[in-house]
Amino acid sequence: MEVTASKPVTGRFAPSPTGCLHSGSLVAAVGSYLMAKRAGGRWLLRLDDLDAPRQVAGMSDDIMRTLESFGLFWDGEVARQSLNQEYYRQAFELLQARNLLYPCSCSRKEIALAASAPHSDDDGPPYPGSCRTGMKAGGVVRSWRIKSPDGEVCFSDLRRGVICQDLTKVCGDFAIRRGAAEYLYQLAVVVDDGVAGVNQVVRGDDLLSSTPRQVYLQRILGLPQPDYCHLPLVTGPGGSKLSKRDHLVSHQLSSLKGREGQLLLAVLRFLGQNPPPELYGSGCAELLEWGIAGFDAALIPAHGGSLPI
Ligand code: GLU
Repeated sequence: MEVTASKPVTGRFAPSPTGCLHSGSLVAAVGSYLMAKRAGGRWLLRLDDLDAPRQVAGMSDDIMRTLESFGLFWDGEVARQSLNQEYYRQAFELLQARNLLYPCSCSRKEIALAASAPHSDDDGPPYPGSCRTGMKAGGVVRSWRIKSPDGEVCFSDLRRGVICQDLTKVCGDFAIRRGAAEYLYQLAVVVDDGVAGVNQVVRGDDLLSSTPRQVYLQRILGLPQPDYCHLPLVTGPGGSKLSKRDHLVSHQLSSLKGREGQLLLAVLRFLGQNPPPELYGSGCAELLEWGIAGFDAALIPAHGGSLPI
């Protein structure tokens, strides 16, 4: 696998075109943009279009137009996961050659039934390893799993500090491919970032619990580990998690037309930044220019919350 040199900073924003950007994705876009640009780096846009059935027609364009309307212009060509299949295949073969993968016939239902350990809803129960020593007779291959390592996988997050996870307890041996050729998120994102030379990953806290899996994959694939910064989450009414259906920035653009600066100011404040009063009422270009010169990651707050707009 060809991997480009790791310095200077290359950041990225990697939305999935399964819905319009919401205010939570805007926080990730602005945070990743400003942290990359503050370091004098590049900011790439990748459309995570791996999960074809969940994609919504027109969303890739919608996302790009929304980013542009906030002045968030990416560097170079837009990357797409759908174009990286060959890299995923190479990574899969490398892991297979190292005897780290095995085929698995278990359905979700079987895994839930076999699981005894408590688990977080996000991750589901850890895979109990039923197929590690071979599939049951007559089983069909539903997925390919990678053996989780013994001991903890740790990494340092700029905002959250050192995070350690025992993958055997959190997810067990995790799937990296479904069926014959459907590569899954954990493998894909590691390969995508490696191929593009991304060395700074700034994204929402909802992905924090996936990061040890990704760090583990980077280590065994021999890919450099990016710097990580997971941002606080924007919550909906009553502190609920935002979904693609909520706070649709694009849907609001008709009412927000001309108010993008106001929303961007709210995002900067949400990220703990304090633009001076003379910038209140400014457009996106001035606000971003201020952020590029002065974004201070140390000010990003510990907790998320709602985004007042
Ligand atoms: N495409 C993922 C999402 O929209 C984000 C991937 C990443 O940042 O690693 O949730």
